[in-house]
Amino acid sequence: MSDPRTGIVFDQRYLHHCIPGHSLENPARLQSLYLTLSLAGYTDRCKVVPARQADMEDILAVHSSFYLEQVREHAVTSDPYSYDKDTYLMEDTLVTAMLAAGGCMALADEIMARDIDQGFALVRPPGHHAGIGRGMGFCVLNNAAVTAEHLRRKHGLNRILIVDFDAHHGNGTQEIFYDTHEVMFLSVHQQDIFPFSGQANQTGEGKGDGYTINVPVYSQFGDNEYTYLFGHLLQTLCTQYLPQIILVSAGYDAHEDDSISQTCLTTQWYKEITMMLAFYAKNVCDKRLLMILEGGYNPDRLEPCVLTSLDGLLEKPPEQVEIPQAPRAERLLQDHPFRQFWTL
Ligand SMILES: [Zn+2]
Repeated sequence: MSDPRTGIVFDQRYLHHCIPGHSLENPARLQSLYLTLSLAGYTDRCKVVPARQADMEDILAVHSSFYLEQVREHAVTSDPYSYDKDTYLMEDTLVTAMLAAGGCMALADEIMARDIDQGFALVRPPGHHAGIGRGMGFCVLNNAAVTAEHLRRKHGLNRILIVDFDAHHGNGTQEIFYDTHEVMFLSVHQQDIFPFSGQANQTGEGKGDGYTINVPVYSQFGDNEYTYLFGHLLQTLCTQYLPQIILVSAGYDAHEDDSISQTCLTTQWYKEITMMLAFYAKNVCDKRLLMILEGGYNPDRLEPCVLTSLDGLLEKPPEQVEIPQAPRAERLLQDHPFRQFWTL
């Protein structure tokens, strides 16, 4: 067999961040998935890239030292929720979060060295709600943002596209790159749920104006609507922005069986979107595609969804993408503010 072109990062140490009581964001999200990776042969078909700890320098390129100090202080108090009502902080939290960010960077380095074309970082805690000076929504360090910043500083990239299909708006990622054109942020998320940001008129500021694209969607949107939106948005943005790499905040909580959202994506959709992303990566950025796990809180669904995404990466990218009819989604793009900046 030829060398695998798809890398994965997974590590038992990602299970260390946990609390005695129940939280939706818990190690059981990944435990069974990790076993299946070897039992079902994914570890043979993919290159298993070792996780590494992010350096403090990498983290401080995105997050404030004041915030990191707060994480350290709250991690040793008796109440894991002393910092935030969702985002528990324990003694292992910062180390695990730095390993999560570092695992993503390890895959990014392999992609830039051309050792692999694409990768999937199966890490936790998730990251896209973590902003410069604040963690929230189960997110401690912003893994995608730390990786994008690493790609700018260490690999000299200046056109990085971050695509976020988690059910929730990636408010942290938006904040971090709001005023730059070197990182474009595209988020499709359910409107009017946590964190209540990501309105269509939030388009960026200064040099970054036009480089944040938010498409809040209605509950009950499913495969057709999402494929319609991503089909048109990726076609527009990839061919006009010409990203050098596509990072994906791959959250699986917009699934129809995830109780945290009311959107209705099926398991199969995650293969479809992955193959669509691989299609654009092949056509505009030498196949460079890095998926980073965000949400997904029904472990029985998260595992098959992640595996079907991996299947999508392991297949040959499609020759073309099919965009279905979806009248409700069409209306969302008709007067969307992103059309002031990009030609649909
Ligand atoms: Zn989410």
